[in-house]
Amino acid sequence: MSAFLDPGNGAWTAEQIAAMSRIREAALSDDFALAELRHLTNNIGPRLAGSAQAAQAVEFVAGEMRALGAAVTLEKTTVPHWVRGVETGALVDWKGMTPNTVQKIVLTALGGSGATPAAGITAPVVVVPTFDDLKRLPQGALKGKILLFNHAFDRQLAAEGLGGEAYGQSVIYRAAGPSLAASAGAVAVLVRSVGGADYRLPHTGIAFYDPALPKVPAAAVTAEDADLIADLAAQGPVQMHLTLTPQNLPKVESYNVIADWKGSSHPEQVVIVSGHLDSWDLGTGAIDDGAGIAVSMQAIHLMQKLGIHPQRTIRFVAWMDEESGGEGSQTYAADHAGELKDHVGALESDLGCDHPTGIIFDGAPALKEWLAPVAHQLAPIGASVLTPGDDVGEDVMSVVGKGVPGFTPAQDSRFYFNYHHTAADTFDKVDPRHLGENAAVMAVLAYALADSSTPAPRAPAP
Ligand SMILES: [Zn+2]
Repeated sequence: MSAFLDPGNGAWTAEQIAAMSRIREAALSDDFALAELRHLTNNIGPRLAGSAQAAQAVEFVAGEMRALGAAVTLEKTTVPHWVRGVETGALVDWKGMTPNTVQKIVLTALGGSGATPAAGITAPVVVVPTFDDLKRLPQGALKGKILLFNHAFDRQLAAEGLGGEAYGQSVIYRAAGPSLAASAGAVAVLVRSVGGADYRLPHTGIAFYDPALPKVPAAAVTAEDADLIADLAAQGPVQMHLTLTPQNLPKVESYNVIADWKGSSHPEQVVIVSGHLDSWDLGTGAIDDGAGIAVSMQAIHLMQKLGIHPQRTIRFVAWMDEESGGEGSQTYAADHAGELKDHVGALESDLGCDHPTGIIFDGAPALKEWLAPVAHQLAPIGASVLTPGDDVGEDVMSVVGKGVPGFTPAQDSRFYFNYHHTAADTFDKVDPRHLGENAAVMAVLAYALADSSTPAPRAPAP
């Protein structure tokens, strides 16, 4: 009990513990992160990998970090260039319809989707709730048909704070469904949106196509439209007219933005603090993941503002292309493979910007006790819970998989997936107080890892 009340100073001096407290308070009151996020989202806008806005965001963030006095490098990576086109859907025949009418279906193309002819296609719709139901269809049942995967996002799980788990159970249909449907002969694929909102919003996201199969046109329909199609299909045949005209263009050069706040005595030892700079194109990528970029920028800003120079390097990374395949993080892991033994930790914030309750860590079990004094400094903002986990951010997984301890703020996930990958992921969804709390977790933890007497405990390399 006394250890809970005061865990002691652990791997830090009393002065360093006091610095953590100053960083926390500054993160809550300093509006730098909010101003950066506002520019990224409102001024630059959506930042789809390969787009002009993504390139502009690279220039903007690099300039801001240079202005803080960090050593900035742009790390070249090659990313997909997919451009959304026309996307419309309508039911044109169903049981009980009023003659000569149609019903509009609200949908949006999945990232990487192939295209229909410009005039669209008209085909019967087959509905399956799960992959198991797909397997049970007779051979040839999907030939020439549009397949709808109607697997519902588990809102109860999300309501209980298990938003990531709910997402994980459904996202497989979006990611793998299109190619599975293509292999069964479907001419197009619809996926029930992977998200929890009620406002007839479609949620986009990447579809991973098997290169050996045709790139069938693929779209997410809203939960409401999925229910409508499933209801009518249970009553009789349903015909749909579908037009999707996205383009898969040649890959383009882009960049991870890397900005080092150089360590005073061990500059070669590195703590990564990061988010991903690209976003989907429907909204402006405020919670996914402009907020992660802004709180990571804030960590460097606070070092500069408070005049703190930890022993090790704090390395800000703005990852490129998390959403369409993670090219940026794979490039980093390959380019820096020989240096990862000196990476003492990798932080990423990529689960939105709601209240953080603590830190999720992926690495040696001993990290929990080691981090206790740090958690104690986050208790005043309600963020002191240390939880082991294996999802600390898609982009840092490539280095965490090589033995680097990984960390992410543990966030309230009840609402994130209502907006995730939709047109409603916009600046107004970010509560400035919560942004400050997340910045506090990132900055305090980054500082603690960079200035501890010995590096964070590390699991044996896998
Ligand atoms: Zn994200």
